Amino acid sequence: MNMYDSNIISNIMKDAGFDRTYDSSSAEIIIFYTCNVREKAAQRVFSNIGLLRSENTKVVAVGGCVPQAEKDEIFRYKHINIAFGPHAYHMLPTYVSRILSGETDRILDVTPLQPQKFNCCGSERTASHSEFVTIQEGCDNYCTYCIVPYTRGKEYSRPVADVISEVKMLLARGAQEITLLGQNVNSYNGEAPYINIGKPKGTWNFGRLLHEVASLDGLRRLRYTTSHPKDITADLMKQHAQIEAMVPFVHIPVQSGSDKILKLMNRRHTAQEYIDKLKAFRDICPDIQFSSDFIVGFPTETEDDFEGTLNLVREVRYICAYSFKYSPRNGTPAATMDGQVPDDIKIRRLSVLQNELMKSQRAHNEAIVGKTMEVLFDKVGRKGGQYVGKNVYMQSVVVASNETDLIGKFKMVLIEQAFQNSVFGSLI
Ligand code: SF4
Repeated sequence: MNMYDSNIISNIMKDAGFDRTYDSSSAEIIIFYTCNVREKAAQRVFSNIGLLRSENTKVVAVGGCVPQAEKDEIFRYKHINIAFGPHAYHMLPTYVSRILSGETDRILDVTPLQPQKFNCCGSERTASHSEFVTIQEGCDNYCTYCIVPYTRGKEYSRPVADVISEVKMLLARGAQEITLLGQNVNSYNGEAPYINIGKPKGTWNFGRLLHEVASLDGLRRLRYTTSHPKDITADLMKQHAQIEAMVPFVHIPVQSGSDKILKLMNRRHTAQEYIDKLKAFRDICPDIQFSSDFIVGFPTETEDDFEGTLNLVREVRYICAYSFKYSPRNGTPAATMDGQVPDDIKIRRLSVLQNELMKSQRAHNEAIVGKTMEVLFDKVGRKGGQYVGKNVYMQSVVVASNETDLIGKFKMVLIEQAFQNSVFGSLI
């Protein structure tokens, strides 16, 4: 979502007459867009401000969830001129002009979600072959470790008509793969696009929206992220089975395999309920694969709790996963829970978990050797003549090719060799 927001910021700044540069020493305005989910990401912003400022810098703007959480406390870093939350990025050109004109030297905007921000995507918005579209923002789940409900706010779903119009625009400009985004994407419940005669305008759920998006001309692949297990419904599984453009790959965070920890996290499901949902998904869509998120060292986590997580990983066989040490976030219930786990234990558990996850990923990479898969190429490889793309499972697929440019093209590839993080193959 931060990539999506950053891209929009870049476009609206361009509309306002600013040019983009990646050379920070020549930049007059430096914009950071931040994540506050983990402490390390937030800290990195402040060290980077010092590194990137130069004698040419006139404005430093810090946006996203760090200022939304810190509010005016953020100005303890004296070089920051503008602090704007994730719901105020559309105001950035105005704020930059006010700083440049000398009207003021500090502006803070951490207002709650304003739906009008979604209407500001920049007239010059170009589309690459693979694009994101935010359909939902915020979260009402209040997992006890998570800062998101306090920074991105309450759940909001964009109206169906707005989502469809943005997807259509991107497809018309060359996008072929669309990833629908939301903190809780599958709880989508957006205003319906038309009124049924004699009935009030209702709402559409996520499955209905998927169906509509998938019917648009030019769409080859449809993805979405991130999902909450409680909103993985039979209807959503059915959409996967019926819609050709839907990739058979879903990110479903579980965080822990211990029922005690899941309860303390306020995740609203047990480990077995999660596993049963994934089994049901596999029954309906036999080629479906899953990725997930894990937190190790949540307060009170014992060796037995951690063993539960390892058992869940062995049972599900994820093809990819994101795993982290628990990072206390100020203002969340878990940050003040008794039983905080010492860092050395977190480090050891993370290493054990990651080894297990890597085995599972490697096994999947090896299992597709000999298969032919469609790959959408998105960049050149490290060696001359190499191209790298993604198959439906988001695996990096590397090929050697004499064709002048494969980027943005779908090609069939025979997978020949598997490694830990990628597979190699030949164009058919
Ligand atoms: S569902 Fe996701 S975004 Fe919402 S509180 Fe839980 S972890 Fe945070």
